[in-house]
Amino acid sequence: MKIICIGRNYINHARELKNPVPEKPVFFMKPGSALVIKNRPFYYPDFSNDVHHEIEIVVRINKVGKAIDPEFAKRYYNEIALGVDFTARDLQAECKKNGLPWEIAKGFDYSAPISKFVPLNRYGYIDNIDFRLDINGENVQKGNSRDMIFHVNELIAYVSRFMTLKTGDLMFTGTPAGVGPVKVGDRLEGYIGEDKLLDFEVK
Ligand code: ZN
Repeated sequence: MKIICIGRNYINHARELKNPVPEKPVFFMKPGSALVIKNRPFYYPDFSNDVHHEIEIVVRINKVGKAIDPEFAKRYYNEIALGVDFTARDLQAECKKNGLPWEIAKGFDYSAPISKFVPLNRYGYIDNIDFRLDINGENVQKGNSRDMIFHVNELIAYVSRFMTLKTGDLMFTGTPAGVGPVKVGDRLEGYIGEDKLLDFEVK
């Protein structure tokens, strides 16, 4: 199983980090060991002082595919979840400055909490999904998949040109604006529409 994460996929988030708006999708990977399920706590790592939340829609691949045509990409998933792409922003800044890969900033243990998966047909159309993240009861991030720079079907087509997608692979599809730090004691609650799917603590 692999976890593919799309970077800079919402214009307002690319701008808040002063990144250029990409001309083609940007992606990176997290290892399976980063996953946290069942709303277990996120344990704040001792190697960072600036871990940021990035709330994202997660798509689960349901069959093997390679070089998938965008037109057929929708046949490769039928469930979505909410995930947080936790990012050690201080380590990432160091990596970016030195032109190094991001894995230590993005792929550490507990960096990928995900909710249960829900059939997509509960929410309708993949390109019109409302989602949000609240911390300690205050809304911090809010997005709709219609605002993605590259939509889910394009992402699947693009990534599958380079690597075969397999059943159970996960794709984090990018975060809207409003990323920011978390701290020990915070309670994170994530919603798709009005369904609360994520509810966990930072410890
Ligand atoms: Zn992200």
